[in-house]
Amino acid sequence: MGLLDGFKAFFHQTVLKMQGKALTPEEEEELLSKLIMADFSLKKAQALLEQIKEKGNNVDVIREVLLNEAPPFEPLRDTSVPSVFFIIGVNGVGKTTTVAKLAHMYAKQGKNVVVVGADTFRAAAQDQLSTLVNRMPVTYVGGERGSDSGSILYKALSENPQASVFLVDTAGRIHTSRALIDELSKLIKVGKKFSEEFPQEVLLVLDGTQGIQGYRQAISFVQGTPITGLVLTKMDSTAKGGMIFSIWDELKIPVKLVCFGQQLDDIDFYSPQRVVDAVLGNNGGGNND
Ligand code: GDP
Repeated sequence: MGLLDGFKAFFHQTVLKMQGKALTPEEEEELLSKLIMADFSLKKAQALLEQIKEKGNNVDVIREVLLNEAPPFEPLRDTSVPSVFFIIGVNGVGKTTTVAKLAHMYAKQGKNVVVVGADTFRAAAQDQLSTLVNRMPVTYVGGERGSDSGSILYKALSENPQASVFLVDTAGRIHTSRALIDELSKLIKVGKKFSEEFPQEVLLVLDGTQGIQGYRQAISFVQGTPITGLVLTKMDSTAKGGMIFSIWDELKIPVKLVCFGQQLDDIDFYSPQRVVDAVLGNNGGGNND
């Protein structure tokens, strides 16, 4: 499955099915409740419906409305100067896989990539990450379970002054939120010893199949950590997709990357255009293939 395939099927079966005709009050109700079931916020679902009623129920209007309602595009910091990206998020959301995908993406661009295994809390984290990246032309710097993550980052930064991008996998779950925040603050301080600009990105990974409640919890668990962008994973399979349209309203943090599968290439920069194209199909078509 590709980006938002599940959501595309939903959209074709519900919203596009009704296009071309005026909606009865019952159909309006039905559409609203289905949009909410697909993780649109009530506000977004109502905006979509209002505009369809006002401007006409056809695919061009729906495309325009979705584009207006999608979170704005904000690019990842460019890596023409040495850059440090922290990847944070609770265990299981796809953090380690995202680090490997980003390493693969930058390595393909010919960048000098250093992958830093700074999750020293989870038993298998180091093995998982080093195995994922070991066939790539990248440098891996890790350490033993229980070792000091700050020292691992320090080693990586001091031994690789020529690198263009450092991708830092961080701990996902420590006994308390306070301990996790302290751990991340410590890593940020280590980065600042090398450059005030480090880290350029602190990317919070969220599982795209979870609802807004889960996201609020994930954010409160790392409260105070300066998050620069979101990575939404698992946007294939069962992701309901409406969340992409609500997340900016709710969290005010830009979505920077979307992941849609377990393969290394299943990652892309977030773009409202691409998301809307994925949902409607390039021709905005009415079939459901
Ligand atoms: P972490 O604990 O946050 O580091 O999570 P992992 O990177 O170990 O991923 C947890 C599971 O989610 C693994 O089975 C991954 O293969 C899977 N996963 C990660 N990203 C995606 C994605 O975009 N789509 C799908 N379908 N699975 C994913």
